[in-house]
Amino acid sequence: MKTVTDYFGSKVFDDRNMKSMLSADVYNSLKKTIDEGTELDIGVANAVAIAMKDWAVANGATHFTHWFQPLTGITAEKHDSFIAPSPDGGVIMEFSGKELIKGEPDASSFPSGGLRATFEARGYTAWDPTSYAFIKGKTLCIPTAFCSYSGHALDKKTPLLRSMEALNKQALRILRLFGNKSVKRVVSSVGPEQEYFLITKEVYDERPDLRFTGRTLFGAKAPKGQEMDDHYFGVIKPRVAAYMEELNDELWKLGILAKTEHNEVAPAQHELAPIYTTTNIATDHNQITMEIMQKVAAKHGLVCLLHEKPFAGVNGSGKHNNWSISTDAGQNLLSPGETPYENAQFLLFLCAVIKAVDDYQDLLRISVATAGNDHRLGANEAPPAVVSIFLGDELNSVLYAIESGTPYKSAKKTQMRLGVDVLPKFNRDTTDRNRTSPFAFTGNKFEFRMLGSSNSIACANIMLNSAVAESLRIYADRLEGAKDFEKALHDMIVKTIKDHKRIIFNGNGYDDSWIKEATKRGLLNYRTTADAIPHLLDKKNVDMLTSQGVFTKAEIKSRYEITLENYVKTVIIEANTMVSMAKTQIAPAVEAYCAEVAKSAAAKKALDSDLACAYESALVRKLSALTDTVYEKADELEDAVTGIDSNAEISKQANVIRDSVLVKMGELRAASDEAETLTAKDYWPFPTYADILFSVK
Ligand code: ADP
Ligand code: MG
Repeated sequence: MKTVTDYFGSKVFDDRNMKSMLSADVYNSLKKTIDEGTELDIGVANAVAIAMKDWAVANGATHFTHWFQPLTGITAEKHDSFIAPSPDGGVIMEFSGKELIKGEPDASSFPSGGLRATFEARGYTAWDPTSYAFIKGKTLCIPTAFCSYSGHALDKKTPLLRSMEALNKQALRILRLFGNKSVKRVVSSVGPEQEYFLITKEVYDERPDLRFTGRTLFGAKAPKGQEMDDHYFGVIKPRVAAYMEELNDELWKLGILAKTEHNEVAPAQHELAPIYTTTNIATDHNQITMEIMQKVAAKHGLVCLLHEKPFAGVNGSGKHNNWSISTDAGQNLLSPGETPYENAQFLLFLCAVIKAVDDYQDLLRISVATAGNDHRLGANEAPPAVVSIFLGDELNSVLYAIESGTPYKSAKKTQMRLGVDVLPKFNRDTTDRNRTSPFAFTGNKFEFRMLGSSNSIACANIMLNSAVAESLRIYADRLEGAKDFEKALHDMIVKTIKDHKRIIFNGNGYDDSWIKEATKRGLLNYRTTADAIPHLLDKKNVDMLTSQGVFTKAEIKSRYEITLENYVKTVIIEANTMVSMAKTQIAPAVEAYCAEVAKSAAAKKALDSDLACAYESALVRKLSALTDTVYEKADELEDAVTGIDSNAEISKQANVIRDSVLVKMGELRAASDEAETLTAKDYWPFPTYADILFSVK
């Protein structure tokens, strides 16, 4: 039997293949590009293309594609075959360096937010050699960036790579100041924990809302939900276990380090976490993981729901973005070190993150803003829409001691001076309070927990990398000019703590009192996507992102447009689905049941006119009134949607969605869900919450 070590990465053109199939010169040159970002020579690209093609063909591939991540949030590919005619009437398999490096998908239908006028309909894709090519089905997929002809990024990878570069540049400046001359590169790494629901295909097929929108738009609460906490880490059912086993196999073949899996809090909810890796690779891998999750589910007669909030009243699904920064020598810069000097450096990087999260709370919130995630953030299962940092009691008291110049209680020395004392070892704080924080320090990394389960992790990491790069830039500017390095360092750390301690919150983030307290502290609370996204255009955000070289002004504007457009479109599709379900399924079903009850009452009365039929009468009245309400609310919802002026500025349209369409959707749902609790099960036109949530036996 083949073991995992035999087939791990078997579908990836990874370092092992490169080493064995490329000449030493070509390999070293490519390695330099991958590790240090040096420019790639066309001769090297040609040699790599031939080796890549030979390997892919030997492994069953017939086609290749530039694989990219347009702003739709999913991945895109356009397949070309390797075949080229040979003079003798046959074909040869061909692939050149030019084809490897650059592609031109006819991409005029991808959203560009006005960046690409129709006369410039074609974008181009450019190879990202730092993320390995892989085979999916019979196609060699080459991870690429996607840009317009004028060079504007039309995807998520380009700004992510730029943000990693910005962070690298500024972090290196800081490391040099600490005397580190040998480090060549600093990279951020991410381990995203992915939550999802598994339900059967049968129940899914019967729910138009799940099919069209990925979430249930109607549904009364099931008698049993997650109250008993009996699903979390519970025994995995055989059908789910078989699914997870195949999913792991598929991911391992693609070199994805799927590591842990367990049941989550809600019934039918599960989680998969990979071992962390370089951010752009982790991002590619997470996109592939989401795709494979759905494919493997289909093979098992299941459907994998990646929506942030598939079921009301039941925990939604998020993604925990575990983030750290480290050097090419493997030193984690967010890990308290062994020597006083390393500790001072650790504290500086820690402060850079604290300052970044406080200064750019809005950008972090914006990076996770979608119609789906709005249902989760702020509900009492996910972090609130307010961004704050959890440090844990111990690290918090260290910072307090530094700020106030007072002795740290458990340190051996009476007073802690940076660069003099050794910091205590921080044990990872695993309290419940920790788990309610949107941004928690977990020993040697930060866990950003506001991401929705279907989000690409690119956006969150673009903002995180850029904001931290900006803190580091400010620090480096000041320290490079300082006469007394240690004093300047100490002063700057104290100043950061003083200026930004409002963002630190070690209490329970699910508590209502925290929102009041946060408001008092002046922290932002953008509850919806419509509230958050316009702030992408705030001057301070545009200045930072452009000066760090992560986005151009035009790119920021285009992302603003596209994100709000997505929000508006998503909710309109939901609203239309609701109207259709209400009018063609729900109301007729309730009506039919109501008629049946009335008929039975009439029959009874015909037998004996003295029978009161009190139950039937009351029920008929209630159901009849509810049917009226369902119709009325469906009409009102329809009007709300028609009321959106599609020529209006997009943020105006988003406001109508927030203030009117979503409100009407809530009203329609309330009437329908009440009717569901009164209607005989046989009459209900689609599977209920109980049917869906417990569909996988
Ligand atoms: P949990 O949050 O469920 O307790 P862990 O903390 O063990 O689990 O890990 C969660 C994720 O964090 C995993 O994907 C893991 O690989 C990742 N991770 C661990 N260390 C780091 C690190 N230094 N940088 C980034 N991610 C990390
Ligand atoms: Mg976690």
